[in-house]
Amino acid sequence: MDVSELLDGLNDKQREAVAAPLQNMLVLAGAGSGKTRVLVHRIAWLMQVEHASAYSIFAVTFTNKAAKEMRTRVEETLQNPVSGMWIGTFHGLAHRILRAHHREANLPESFQILDSDDQLRMIKRLLKSMNIDDKKWPPKQLSWYISARKDEGQRPKDITAHDVNEQLMLQVYTAYQDACDRAGLVDFAEILLRCYEVLQQNPTLLRHYQQRFRHMLVDEFQDTNSIQYLWLKLLAGSDSNIMIVGDDDQSIYGWRGARIENIKRFLTDFDAQTIRLEQNYRSTGTILKASNALIQNNAERMGKSLWTDGNQGEPISVYAAFNELDEARFMVSKVKSWLQGGNALSDCAVLYRSNAQSRVLEEALLQEGLKYRIYGGMRFFERQEIKDALSYLRLISNRNDDAAFERVINTPARGIGDKTLSHIRDCARAESLPLWYAAKAVLEQGHLAGRAATAIRRFIELVEQLDDKLMELELAEQAKTTIELSGLLAMYQAEKGEKGRARVENLEELINACGQFELPVEEEFTSPLQGFLAYTSLESGEGQADEHEDAVQMMTLHSAKGLEFPLVFMVGVEEGMFPSQQSHEESGRLEEERRLCYVGMTRAMEKLYISHAESRRLYGQEKYHSPSRFLREIPEDCLEEIRIKTQVSRPAPSGRFSGSVSHAAFEDSGFSLGQRVLHAKFGAGTVLNYEGSGAQSRIQVNFDDVGSKWLVTAYARLQAL
Ligand code: ATP
Ligand code: MG
Repeated sequence: MDVSELLDGLNDKQREAVAAPLQNMLVLAGAGSGKTRVLVHRIAWLMQVEHASAYSIFAVTFTNKAAKEMRTRVEETLQNPVSGMWIGTFHGLAHRILRAHHREANLPESFQILDSDDQLRMIKRLLKSMNIDDKKWPPKQLSWYISARKDEGQRPKDITAHDVNEQLMLQVYTAYQDACDRAGLVDFAEILLRCYEVLQQNPTLLRHYQQRFRHMLVDEFQDTNSIQYLWLKLLAGSDSNIMIVGDDDQSIYGWRGARIENIKRFLTDFDAQTIRLEQNYRSTGTILKASNALIQNNAERMGKSLWTDGNQGEPISVYAAFNELDEARFMVSKVKSWLQGGNALSDCAVLYRSNAQSRVLEEALLQEGLKYRIYGGMRFFERQEIKDALSYLRLISNRNDDAAFERVINTPARGIGDKTLSHIRDCARAESLPLWYAAKAVLEQGHLAGRAATAIRRFIELVEQLDDKLMELELAEQAKTTIELSGLLAMYQAEKGEKGRARVENLEELINACGQFELPVEEEFTSPLQGFLAYTSLESGEGQADEHEDAVQMMTLHSAKGLEFPLVFMVGVEEGMFPSQQSHEESGRLEEERRLCYVGMTRAMEKLYISHAESRRLYGQEKYHSPSRFLREIPEDCLEEIRIKTQVSRPAPSGRFSGSVSHAAFEDSGFSLGQRVLHAKFGAGTVLNYEGSGAQSRIQVNFDDVGSKWLVTAYARLQAL
């Protein structure tokens, strides 16, 4: 691509930024104004016009997805692959430096990264050895403290404890760090801090990188935290040129230590020139007007305005749903008409405030056989806390389930160590027993040390006791009892911060799912619990589309940052949900929620749907919410209310297994109507009917001996005769 082409497709302001002389720059602009595009073109410009080598370029952003996209866009613009260029996430790039200089960093060559689960386990062990009560000092809270300090660039020696509590946390921080250092382990926050320190303490090394990375570029700068800022500043030194792009109105990670002030700090520290972009190329006039009006309700802003010369487009449709099921069905019906209009599923995004909301939406999409993909989060039934709870339920209903046994034997921690476990595994192998029975055998043989034996005995009693209790309960009560008595609820309640809160919400949502579950009539399950467990395992296996398949994109509002989609649904826009309950309690949080709403709305290019439900069963309770205040902040002439309310009764209407023969079911089953088939238990029969699709598909067979039955196709294991 020649130079003029590089500037084609850019407006004057964008050109000014792309073709600026070598200097420090801030591109400050609202959503969809082409910041990321400017950054990519600037890299190409530096190489083509300034003759910068790929080797001298250092570009950083927040997610792997964004980093990958940035590299592709640079290569497309240059029409050449680039090697030697450093494009990555903060953690990815800092890790790369640490690997190359592990010796200077005092790390063994094979140093390992500690994920958050490992980190918790380590803290737990330390607390025990320090005789600190982990009920009073939940490990999660301590790990939160340690990471927050590291994000601020602080080692224990830099911190003055204000009270005895902080003193104790400091002690744990010190002991934790010693233990990590001895074992050659680094946690996520450590990667950046350690990298920063290595560079700071090794002038030769620092000079090498400062001289190498002459051109530094940072996307989504508004979400950098303190250590990231310090690290960038150190690497830039006094000779490099750094371009940052960002939007203070899109700063949404304050709760995780991000500092909007970094933008102002950058301007003074780097004596940078500011370029503002004001034309939006992404959204229709209506979407833009609505988003601008919304964000104007925030007091603390650097002030920007956005305009578009594109068309006004359609009004934003607001749907007041009867409940969350109705909301999900509304979304699905609109996705279907979008698809029928010849559009791609991957052009629709469904955005929600918290991960727990996805379950009902996923289910509604599954019912209609619409593919979806969840980004930046896991599908509901695959989440850690949900798998923990399901594993208890699985073990209760089937003692032979070794995977479930392994998962819950020491979750929550009950002092069953690796030694005891390997003892049980050995016994299971030698005697060809399931782990559960091996555990009992080992216990009876009396080979276990006193404490281990007690722990195993308690575990066995717990599962047997639960089994007894559950017999008289309904499914939702069964789940609730299991989650409580197993100690899972208490364990996750002790986790501080957003993540712990989300896990508890998810557990409550699981109870909800049980309450709404309808056992298929005439099904061959021995109990509702068995039916539910089968359903959850079918659910997690299918539905999620492959990487390249056309699928609806589902994600939280946080993970949608930087992305754009022709059709966007924002669901659950209700007081208490969005803005969230907690944001009323902490200062500054409401403005951050509003910025999140702004991020969500500005993802939409052509059409935006916003919905709220009058009643919502979430986290195990029926809640009545009023529409979000954010809706009232949008000018009325941008909105159109949709009023086709359909009464939906609970539990979910029988859509899940509704009647007629569907083509998809026919294809899925691999059998034709009237065909003769053989079932292991019921014998020979004739296929009468099908329904549902994918994981939901069922087949009706008239068995010669036992009459007609509906079976889940995937489970029936029918053989053609
Ligand atoms: P966000 O704040 O959401 O990250 P952004 O400012 O980074 O947004 P981009 O994603 O770079 O914005 O651009 C938004 C859309 O507008 C993209 O589809 C981009 O290709 C398009 N675009 C940007 N500048 C122009 C232009 N000058 N002419 C035509 N299209 C443009
Ligand atoms: Mg961007």
